[in-house]
Amino acid sequence: MIIRFIGGGRELGGNCVEITSNNESILLDVGMPIEKNYSEEITFRDTYAGILISHTHMDHYLRMEFLKDKKVNVYISDPMKDIFEANEIFLNERILNYKSFLLYESEEVEIGDFKITPYLQDHSSFDSRGFLIEVEGKKVFYTGDFRFHGRKSSRKENLISKLKEKDIDVLITDGTNISNNKINITEYSIQKKIMQEIKNTNGLVTVNFSSQNIDRIVSIYKASRKNNRTFIIDLYTAYLLMKLSKYAKLPNPLTYSHLRVYYPQNQICKVIKNHNSKILNLFREKSIYLDEVILEPNKYVFQIRPSFIEEVEKLTPTLNIYSMWEGYLEKEEYNKFKSHYVGNGISFKIIHTSGHISKTELKEFIEQVKPKKIFIIHTNSDLGEMSFSNVFYPENGFQIEI
Ligand SMILES: [Zn+2]
Ligand SMILES: [Zn+2]
Repeated sequence: MIIRFIGGGRELGGNCVEITSNNESILLDVGMPIEKNYSEEITFRDTYAGILISHTHMDHYLRMEFLKDKKVNVYISDPMKDIFEANEIFLNERILNYKSFLLYESEEVEIGDFKITPYLQDHSSFDSRGFLIEVEGKKVFYTGDFRFHGRKSSRKENLISKLKEKDIDVLITDGTNISNNKINITEYSIQKKIMQEIKNTNGLVTVNFSSQNIDRIVSIYKASRKNNRTFIIDLYTAYLLMKLSKYAKLPNPLTYSHLRVYYPQNQICKVIKNHNSKILNLFREKSIYLDEVILEPNKYVFQIRPSFIEEVEKLTPTLNIYSMWEGYLEKEEYNKFKSHYVGNGISFKIIHTSGHISKTELKEFIEQVKPKKIFIIHTNSDLGEMSFSNVFYPENGFQIEI
């Protein structure tokens, strides 16, 4: 078996790992790098026996359009399919011109010589997976992006005990936090902090978060509800929540109280342009106009994005809670957004926890699983802070025979 690191080597995101047996190759993710120029040439093979997508963050799938074989089999789960379909409508992404095969928890899938077992992972994207790959008598575990401090932290014991049993030859792991000493606070603490901030605020609270971070949406919803406020989400978020509510107990805007839906103009346009106008009728009874919010600002927590900041200018929030990756604040869109808020005397607070495992927990995980070789990717660090002799920080293009 040969492992080749195509993307994610000494870079943040952009994961793409190729595994080749005597007969065929598979890909683990095919992501877009977050910080580098994605147009740099990638040497994909002409075809693959299958492509496994760990989750629906773009740094794990969006380079699919550069594959030579447009009919390749792509393995995703039911919820991932729903998210991709929503993204196609609201974000104009066209990536599912591929035949998709569904993945079910712990159910083995055979792709040519490869035996694959998907494991549900705790991450800031709904239904994220790690993959156990067994081929030619060797066992590889690919973590995808993962952590142990979100709403699925109880997966930890189960994952470790299953991997211990398997005697893993190669671990390919998320190393986002390898070069910092951040202690990740839990998602439950985030919920408490948000609840407290809302409690201390007299006036409207606005929030920024990723619509795919369902853990966080649940936290904000619960924090709002505890303060007897209604959480106003945009159409895209409402659509995602409705779709994903069939897989888990989530605040479904069609059936839950303290949840209303705002229809931003740009989202209405996208839905109409993509011939999905019927979506506009779904949440009619739960829809809200700005005038209602202006009349009673103390009653609401309002989701805001830079993309529709201008049309909600007549709102006068007291506090904005920024609840997503701090790196976005350095990019133009959120930088301008923050300056606009701060310039208008609106309090701007960051309340967030990483979607990725901390260095300390990763070290513990490795110590327990005891893989023979460890490849740390999804990090721009190559400092080798891990004090194990069998840890590697592969560069893109690096390949190794196992
Ligand atoms: Zn990632
Ligand atoms: Zn991710």
